[in-house]
Order: sequence, then structure tokens, then C-alpha cells
Amino acid sequence: MRVLLVLALLLVAALTKETFEGHQILRVVAKDEVQLSLIRELEDVQEFELDFWRGVTDVHSPVDVRVPSHSLQSVKVYLETLDIEYSVMIEDLQVMLDEEQEEMDSALRVVEPRDTNSFDYSRYHTLQEIYEFQDMLVAENPSLVSKIVIGQSYQGRPINVLKFSTGGTKRPAIWIDTGIHSREWVTQASGTWFAKKIVTDYGKDPALTAILNNMDIFLEIVTNPDGFYYTHSSNRMWRKTRKPNRGSNCVGVDPNRNWDAGFGAPGASNNPCSETYRGPSAHSESEVRSIVDFVKSHRNFKAFVSIHSYSQMLLYPYGYTRTPAKDQAELHSLARKAISDLATLYGTRYRYGSIINTIYQASGGTIDWTYNQGIKYSYTFELRDTGRYGFILPANQIIPTAKETWLALMAIMDHTNKNPY
Ligand SMILES: [Zn+2]
Repeated sequence: MRVLLVLALLLVAALTKETFEGHQILRVVAKDEVQLSLIRELEDVQEFELDFWRGVTDVHSPVDVRVPSHSLQSVKVYLETLDIEYSVMIEDLQVMLDEEQEEMDSALRVVEPRDTNSFDYSRYHTLQEIYEFQDMLVAENPSLVSKIVIGQSYQGRPINVLKFSTGGTKRPAIWIDTGIHSREWVTQASGTWFAKKIVTDYGKDPALTAILNNMDIFLEIVTNPDGFYYTHSSNRMWRKTRKPNRGSNCVGVDPNRNWDAGFGAPGASNNPCSETYRGPSAHSESEVRSIVDFVKSHRNFKAFVSIHSYSQMLLYPYGYTRTPAKDQAELHSLARKAISDLATLYGTRYRYGSIINTIYQASGGTIDWTYNQGIKYSYTFELRDTGRYGFILPANQIIPTAKETWLALMAIMDHTNKNPY
């Protein structure tokens, strides 16, 4: 009876999981402004249900878009008729997702890790597994790591932050978050690896040791826990929060458009069904509000790094305005140093610059807000890759991605430590 019940529940879970059979990821490239605006018009065709993985920016910059099978023919005819160049990046998204799931399931057969040494950093993990990892890390390193619950998600999950500290009170601090967009799985996986790296290197790596002897590091690995849970349970492509929107059937707010920095300006959507919906008001999402309250009450953050994927970029403010940040020259040269350090490991190439000049106008973004709060070293990463796999980065790239990103993070943290302000 029990077995039957379990089987029935599994069946229900399998049936309620959204499938992406026949969905393709197209890469579209405009050769002039006219084509660019024609591509942009696709965004407004609601019945196509397009999901822009890499949004429309400028001529020659690729646009990656997930096209559901039901609109594939119409979209292709549209592009071909207008002589707009495109290629198929992913032939059938579900095939790739099945491979990813198979790999995760095979990991389940492995004995559960009992400590952070036997934790498998080369796999993707569920929310529960990451929560357990955090508790193990704290238990193993009580004098270096503690867990702070800074709030609750909309659905009541704890918003956990790991604090790495060697003492003192309200020391100058560095913030790192991963996974604010839940489908960007390589970021939460990298965050987990960073946490282990910090406890491993403290006392061994002179640069990190110097940083931690003077500053605290705060690391939020699962910044959007409801969304992350949902990517495992129901819809792998979920990006936003999970709060229902009043007067709409569409759920969720883009937590990287919800901050009180140019909130409501161009570069975010007021449509609750959009992937870049800014929300009803600034800081309406508890996942954002919790960080805002924490940063404001702490008052001594010197660097703030918010990590996304994909497209291999390192960005600094601003996103909502073309007015250059007053520290632009320093932010720019530090970014250059960080990405050249990153490239030393595997040659991975990053672009860098301000958000608005490098990607597109985006309002209500995390680091614009932190920068306006006086946190000079505010950066956003877009990790691997450049679109071959996009959000479905194979698990065998997790550790290489984390390792190379760590070099860039070290460059930023080291500079922050050596340049007090
Ligand atoms: Zn993102």
C-alpha cells in the first residue's frame, strides 16, 4: 500500500512537471537597426510564449530565445521572410533536460554525503541538499562559519546567509550572492563550491587569509529559494520569485528588477507575465527586502557581488542610467584585472563594462541599488557559457566554472581589502 502511494505521488510529480519537448533555442542576429526592431516586436506577441534567454540588445549581439514547439513554425517563417539570420542552438530542450535529470538521479544512488568533504561539488543539488551542506559546513567550522537567517521567502523558506568571520564586530564586509534567478543553476553550484573553498584556503592562501583577518564575507547561495525549489519540482526554466500577482494569472517578480534604483524606469516590464516584471513596488519581494534590510542594518559592506549566468560578463553600475558611476575608472580597471585573472585558468573570455553599455538598459537591478547605498565595489557576474548550453550547463563544467570565477572574486576581494574607504 505504502509503495503504491509513493508510486502514485511520483507519477503525479512526473505529470505536473512542465516539459519542453520540441522547444528550440534559436540564436537570432540582427544585421541592422530595422531587423533589431523587428526582433523586438516578437517580444510582444504573447501567444508565441517566447522566453528570451539573452535579450535584444544591439545590432550583431546575438539574441537567444526559447521557442515552444507550437510557435516554432510561425517564428521561423517570420524570421526567414524578413531575411533575419538565425541558427538552432538547442534542437530539443527536453532531450537536454532529460540528460541533466538522469545525471542527478544517478547521483542519488550514491551514499548521502556525511560531511562537506564527501559532498559532490561536480553535481547539481536540490534545495534540501544545499541547506544540509550549509549546516554541515557550519558544524565542521564553528569558529569560522555561522549561518544567519535574514528573512523568509514568500512561501516561508528560510533565507540563509553564511557568514565567514575570524572575529571582531561589524568588520568591513564583502557580500556574494548566487541564484537570485533560480534557473541559473551553475551559480548556486558555484556558490556551494566557494563556501568550501573559503574554509579550505583560510590559513593556507595568504591573500584570502589576509582578507579574512580584516573583513567578513557573507555568502547567500540560494537567493531565491522558492524559485529554486520550483526549478526542481515543476519547471526547470523558472527565473522569478513565486509570489502570485494580484489581478493576473502569472506568478512571480523578477528579483533583479525589484530594487529601488531607477525602479519603474525603462529596462523592466510592468507586465506580470513578463520574465522581467519589476513587481508592484520597489522591494515588494521578501527575497529582495531581506537583503535590503540586512545591508542597511549592517552598514559596513565594502563590496557586493551578485552572480548570474549566462553570457560571460563582468559588469558594474549603472544599468538604469547612462550617467557613468563616479568610480567608473576604478571599477573598470578592477574588472579588467578580475577577468584577466579568470582567463589564466582555462582561457575563458569575458566581456566587461557598465551594465547599460555592455548588455542593455535594466532598471531596478541589485548592484545599482548597492552602489547607490555607497558600496563602491558593486559587481555582477554572468558566468558560463556564451549560449551553447545556456542555463543547462552540463554538470562537468561546474567545478571549472567555480574555479575560474574564484580567481576573479579574489581579485575583487583583495582590491577591496587593500583599498579601504
Ligand atoms: Zn540572472
